[in-house]
Order: sequence, then structure tokens, then C-alpha cells
Amino acid sequence: MNSTVKGIGVEVPKEVITVTETLKNKGFEAYIVGGCVRDLLIGRTPKDWDVTTNATPEEIITAFPKTFYENTFGTVGVVDENTTDESLKVIEVTPYRLETGYSDFRRPDEVKFSKHLKDDLERRDFTINALAADVANGKIANILDFHNGQKDLKDKTLRAVGDANERFHEDALRSLRAVRIATELGFMINKETEEAIVTHVTLLKHISWERIRDEFSRILMSDYPANGIFLAQRLGIIKEIVPELEAGIGVEQNQAHAFDVWTHLLKSLQHAADKKWPLDIRLAALFHDISKPETRRFSHETQQWTFYGHEVVGSRVTQKILDRLKYPRKTIDKVVKLVRWHMFFSDTESISLSAVRRMIANVGTENIWDLMNVRICDRIGTGRPKENPYRLRKYQSMIEEALHDPVSVAMLKIDGKKIMEVTKITPGPKIGQVLNALLEDVLENPSHNTAEYLENTAKKLIELSDEELKKRGEAGKELREAEEEKNLEEIRKKYHVS
Ligand code: ATP
Ligand code: MG
Repeated sequence: MNSTVKGIGVEVPKEVITVTETLKNKGFEAYIVGGCVRDLLIGRTPKDWDVTTNATPEEIITAFPKTFYENTFGTVGVVDENTTDESLKVIEVTPYRLETGYSDFRRPDEVKFSKHLKDDLERRDFTINALAADVANGKIANILDFHNGQKDLKDKTLRAVGDANERFHEDALRSLRAVRIATELGFMINKETEEAIVTHVTLLKHISWERIRDEFSRILMSDYPANGIFLAQRLGIIKEIVPELEAGIGVEQNQAHAFDVWTHLLKSLQHAADKKWPLDIRLAALFHDISKPETRRFSHETQQWTFYGHEVVGSRVTQKILDRLKYPRKTIDKVVKLVRWHMFFSDTESISLSAVRRMIANVGTENIWDLMNVRICDRIGTGRPKENPYRLRKYQSMIEEALHDPVSVAMLKIDGKKIMEVTKITPGPKIGQVLNALLEDVLENPSHNTAEYLENTAKKLIELSDEELKKRGEAGKELREAEEEKNLEEIRKKYHVS
């Protein structure tokens, strides 16, 4: 596979030129380097800009009006307060570096600066990331390529700089970077490089989960995440970071499914990417059936596999995985909910409006459309054709209708203050219990959402014993669980008939 790679003459943003020119005017060398050069040459927009120079950190700091010292590797952030382009607000300027030992498999033991660009390019991970470019008159004037990076760019090949085994032994994160960059760019990893990744993959255990998560998310956010996860599995990376996913490999399902659980999850994820849906939907698509392997039972009666409760177990497993990967609380809560309730719309024949209202109360108004999207990924991922447009519209109109009804405490025509006013109770947990009990009432019967009805009912509710009141507030939970039981029941029936 060969592709055109640009070269001398490619334009560079003026904000970057200002940085290199400033350094050059002071008598230093300055080159743009790494991922930004790579991206410019293949016509992608760089995510961030790096400059490398023979100036020391102190010399860089004095050359610019506004800088900050980023880390212990000599990198200075040069700040441009006037630009509107996010990627140009901070340009990272790093002195030529030489790297020495890596006794912890992730960070060099000490950082030594060098006088030579060549040394700096040698410490970089992949040949296509080891390109530097000299900039003049607003354009790339010269490309410095000591490792045949331009050829690898043409051949769409990711290859380690120097001895592949040494490079992955030094820094295990590079294995995940390799998969991420190959996935984003649609490149192949060269054979020796792949073999070195496989050899050193267990060293990933020395890498922080935050850094692993960032690369993992970027794989998911690429255009072809299914290829990326597939590749990561083949190289042994998935086993190190999300072993739970591997359990689905080769786990067969019923006729409705053309694929094993693993392939189904990858295809669901890919559909989320095809639709350009956000990270939380992609995570939910990838994990929604994660516990099918452990809940799979063979029914001799029907000669079919069953997966009862896989969404309940799966939501817990998903929580565990996302906690481990240190995703933000908000992301975790949402993805866990989407996994937990993904079976709802699979019971296609008989969904009542009150069931839809309860579903919305469970998953949250802010998540209901995303749940629909996860369902769409799930369906496409089974290899079945697109949803019958009539049925999809029917669901959508039911959701819209249900959304007009009150589905959360906040939508009740009464609030805590009013409850205290009409019942004369003092602040405390009781108020929340009354609100919950009122919501349960209104979910069942939306016409009860009037100030008058709710105030009267609140007065009656506080007459109940604490225990009884609590039970009323939790009635919904029980009902919801019963609803879910009913769901399972119907799914069971369906398997019996099919
Ligand atoms: P992107 O900016 O799209 O994330 P990138 O390749 O530019 O991709 P950065 O994290 O911005 O990644 O790093 C900039 C450059 O620094 C890389 O192109 C590479 O030359 C070098 N680099 C980054 N991480 C490593 C590493 N772990 N080992 C060796 N070199 C690295
Ligand atoms: Mg970069």
C-alpha cells in the first residue's frame, strides 16, 4: 500500500513559525518535530505542536514573554494568548534530549540534554514520529529524516526506531501508542515491531492506568476502533488492560446472532464510530454484553443458549473496568446505566408507555436517547439489517410522549419547600421519602401531577409510619425490578418459541 506523502513547501501556522523564528533569531537551532511533522506530511491536522531546539530550558524561558515549565524533562510550554486555535495556545519546546536507563520501564532514569538533533530523534518511538522539519518563510523548508520515516509514511508502516525490543522494554506504553497511532492513521505495524510488542506486553503493568486509559480512549474515538481493539487483542494488549473482553472470544450465541460475543461487541462499537457517537456510547457499545460468557447457560428444553441477567452482571463488571481505567465518575455512572438497561428495547412487541416512563426514570432523561443509540449499535452488531424504520419511529414517539410526563422528582408540581409548608415537618430524610413516594404515584399515573393532588397526598403520606413511607418510596424500585423480571420472563418465552 503506497500513498502520496507531502514534503517541502507544506504550510505551517504562523504561531509555530513565531516560536521557531524567535529561537533562530537568538542563534539557536529550532525544528518542528514528531507527530506534528508526521501529520503535516500526510495531510492531517496536528493535534499539538512540538518544537525541538539546542537551547536549554532557561534559554527557552528567557526567549519568550510567557512560558511555563512543564515537567522534569526540560519541556517548556510557550504560551500564545492571542490565538483562537486550541492546538496552538501552548507550543511545547523541548531541548534535544538523550535518554539513558529505563529501570522502571516507563521513564528514563535521568534526562540528559544533547547538542545534536540526531540524538533527539533517536530516542523517539517510531520512525514516522522521528521526523524533524526546518521551517522558513511560513513553509517546511527541509526535512530531517535519519530513520527512513518518510518511506514508512508512504508505505503506511509503523516501525520502531532502532532496536524494537529495546524500545518496548524501555517504555511499555509504546505498545499501546503503536496500536493507537496505527489505528488512527490506518497503518500496519511492521513485523519485527509487532513481535517486540508481543514479547514485552506484560510490562504494561508498570504503566499508570491514566496513561493507558488515554490511549485506549483514543483508539475508541478513532474512525475504525474495531480494527484497533482487534489488533490490541492480537498483540496481547487487551489481556493486560481489559481481560474481561477476551472471555467473549469464540462464545457462540443463538441464531439471531451471526457472531460470537467478542465479534458482536466489536461490531457494535464500530457502528457507534460510524455514527460518530461520543465516547460514552462507544464504551457502552463495547461493554454491553461483557458478561454474556459468564451468564451463558444451555437450555436443553429449547436447545438454545440463554443469558439471563447478563446486563445486571455486565453493568457491575463494566463499573469495575471503568474504575480500574480511572474514567471520570460521570462517564462511569452513565456507561454503567447504559449497559444496565440496554435490554429494555430488545423486548420489541410489548412496551407500554408506563414502562417507558419507568425506564426513563431509571436511566435518566439525559440518557434516554443515548440508550436508544446503544440499542441501535447492539442491533447492527448482531449482523441484522437496520431497524425497521416504523418500529424505530414508534419507540422514538413513545419516548417523546413519555418525556412530556413527569419522570423525575424535579418534574413534580411540588418541591421539598412546599412539602414542609403544607405538612409542617422539619427538614430531614422524610422529605426525600415523601418526594419519592409521590414520584412513584405519578409515574404510574401522570395525571396526578397537580399541585393540589400532590399537596393532599403529601399530607396523607406523612401520617404513615416511617417504615411504610419508606416502602412507598421504594415501591418503584420493586416495581422496576418486577418490570425487569417480566422483561426476562418474556425473553425467556421468546427463546422457547424460537
Ligand atoms: P498525537 O499528538 O496525535 O497524540 P504524537 O505522536 O504527536 O501524536 P505526542 O504525545 O504528542 O504524540 O508526542 C509527540 C512526539 O514525542 C511523538 O511523535 C514522538 O516523537 C515522541 N514521543 C511521545 N511519546 C513517546 C514515547 N513514549 N516514547 C518515545 N517517544 C515518544
Ligand atoms: Mg503530538
